[in-house]
Amino acid sequence: MNTRILRLLGLDRSAEPPDYVTDEQFGPMPQDKKPDEWIRTTCGYCSVGCGMLVGVKDGKATAVRGDPTHPVNEGRLCPKGLSEHLTLSAGGRLSTPMISGVPATWDTAIGYVVDAFTNLVATYGPESVAVLSTGQLVTEEFYALGKLVRLGLGLSHYDGNTTLCMASAVSGYKMSFGSDGPPGAYSDFVDADVIVLIGANIADNHPLLAPRVLDNAAAQVIVVDPRVTKTAMVATSHLAIKPRTDITLLNGFINYVITNDLVDTAFAAEHTDGFAELAMHVASYSPAFVADACGIDEDAYVRAAQAIGTSKKLMLAWTMGVNHSTQGSETVAVINTLSAITGNLGRPGSAPMSITGQCNAMGTRETGFTASMPGYRAYDNKQDRADLAALWGIDESRIPVARGRAYPDIIEGIIGGRIKALWIIGTNPVVSYPNRELLEYALDRLELLVVQDGFETPTTSRAHVTLPAAIWGEKGGTFTNSERRVSRVRKVVEPPAQARSDFDIFLAVAQHMGMRDELYPGWETPQDAFDEWTRVSKGRLCDYSAITYDRIDAAGGVQWPCTLDTDTLGGTPRLYEDGVVPTPNGRIRLQRSTAKQMTEPPRERFPFILNTGRTVEHWHTRTKTGRVEILERLAPDGWVEMNPIDATRLRLASGDMVRVASERGAIDSIPLRVTAIVRPGEIFIPFHYDEMCANRITLNEFDPVSREPNYKQCAVRVDAAPATLAPRGGCR
Ligand code: SF4
Repeated sequence: MNTRILRLLGLDRSAEPPDYVTDEQFGPMPQDKKPDEWIRTTCGYCSVGCGMLVGVKDGKATAVRGDPTHPVNEGRLCPKGLSEHLTLSAGGRLSTPMISGVPATWDTAIGYVVDAFTNLVATYGPESVAVLSTGQLVTEEFYALGKLVRLGLGLSHYDGNTTLCMASAVSGYKMSFGSDGPPGAYSDFVDADVIVLIGANIADNHPLLAPRVLDNAAAQVIVVDPRVTKTAMVATSHLAIKPRTDITLLNGFINYVITNDLVDTAFAAEHTDGFAELAMHVASYSPAFVADACGIDEDAYVRAAQAIGTSKKLMLAWTMGVNHSTQGSETVAVINTLSAITGNLGRPGSAPMSITGQCNAMGTRETGFTASMPGYRAYDNKQDRADLAALWGIDESRIPVARGRAYPDIIEGIIGGRIKALWIIGTNPVVSYPNRELLEYALDRLELLVVQDGFETPTTSRAHVTLPAAIWGEKGGTFTNSERRVSRVRKVVEPPAQARSDFDIFLAVAQHMGMRDELYPGWETPQDAFDEWTRVSKGRLCDYSAITYDRIDAAGGVQWPCTLDTDTLGGTPRLYEDGVVPTPNGRIRLQRSTAKQMTEPPRERFPFILNTGRTVEHWHTRTKTGRVEILERLAPDGWVEMNPIDATRLRLASGDMVRVASERGAIDSIPLRVTAIVRPGEIFIPFHYDEMCANRITLNEFDPVSREPNYKQCAVRVDAAPATLAPRGGCR
């Protein structure tokens, strides 16, 4: 549909929106900040994908406001979004390419990197160089990077920090449905009659999803979380389960549904496999057993099970509380199983919904990384390889037949000496990767560490080569949010000094290799990559074939799949409406799992279980939010939460500085908060902070399928800190 017709229908919202941004609506702005224009874009932090308007005056971003017309957030923004324009004038940017601490031209730096990678591959093979990217590039950049890594550099190992947050959701969806792809939509939170949030503190981590849940006053909201999070505080009921008992709880719900004749028998018979085996597997999960194993009240458990079983429209949503586990993939598949036997799939208000972390983690998933090739194509599927080769006009032998190493296996490969060079793009593993000391050891072993980022970080400070990249607001493209909605991201200001968009860097690398025409035929802008991506994704679950930049503008975001024949203006709200999924026989595989013991249970020397998570003011390793003054003032330091019973026993009080240690390392000094938010025997630390880095103590243990880290449970001790020093955290 062209833009003119959309305008005539009153559906075109692509025109710049001065009408929406009035003083009456938002209050007057100081004259020196009053923008000359407002530019529509999408927030660059979390996967909710809020639409926003960035005000620009004299080439600088001076204000930001929620886009009242955007279907995701309808004008609202959280503290991070409301201050995001300030990242564009923040200090600490990488400004020029550097080789061994000496400034270099772009030509010299790219030549140095390409020659070094090429020589290593020639000497040691394609296994010797690896790439780690992020969930924060635009989709066009992910697609370009995938071609560069696989076809240009010919490397085997390419993963992203997305494996640190949502790989288990990907694996779990594949186990159940045969493909990745969140089936539901945000509107399902509004339509549901029961919403179960499992390990999902949306009030802190996905703030603009919280109003969807709260606005649905008729729904029962059940929060499953070991901690009394802000989300748990506003729930109808809170099941504060013991760590590592989520599978037990879910098996209990499944058994309750089966034994109380609450199964959607027609749906289960027509669309699932393995029901009889599942029923046998969960038969022993009586309410008394489950309540005891999970450490919760039996009546509260039964009320929740009854609500789930009798719900007509059930949303089961989760985030890192599920994914950050050695059993994350299995847990996701058990959630899918509960959804399936109750018939809650493909209908309004009914979905098993993973809420992704980063603004464009979905873009990585769609365009391919270690788990799959572009368009969710499988490495081990001959037809998929042949199709992709045909689309790219290359010999099929150039398409990998097996996945490369996942993130933790890349780190292990470095430690073992097989991987000698690493190119890190837009991520800060020194703070974000578990067991920091081991990670630092690995990075120090590399012959060449190249880091491409917008800001100086603890990781860039270890690099042999740094490449200064443009950040959000300095480049254009698209993001996909957690409900598969593709939205535009626009350039608002020019990048500083010599910083370039990641897209331009990838094109320059290909140019230096003499492969630009082959890899990127005729490409000049991200839109050229997008156009090719729409063709490559055609016919796949994540079909973009009818998505255009104009259509995104008109609809305020388009949910894939979106094809010419079938879709409404905004794409497809939910997957699997006919109950048929992309497994070989079209049926959902029901998952039988049993909770495993923690590998590091508490003991005399390390008597507490550590839980990690986030706070609303910060984002990941604070590379950006640590430089926004208003957010820093709100949450300048890390902290550790401890139950009053434990604090009294240890003679500690709120405000005391404590030392938290595990077998692997310690945070030497961190302020204590004494609070009943956490259970006795458990502590909580936010993972954003460098100087108070939770990953000095976390376990390097990973899900065997997804390879996602188990950030949530390890044994630690807490003692009074030897000094009263109160360092400010931060990655400045
Ligand atoms: Fe940005 Fe997420 Fe906040 Fe929305 S909820 S403004 S996407 S950080």
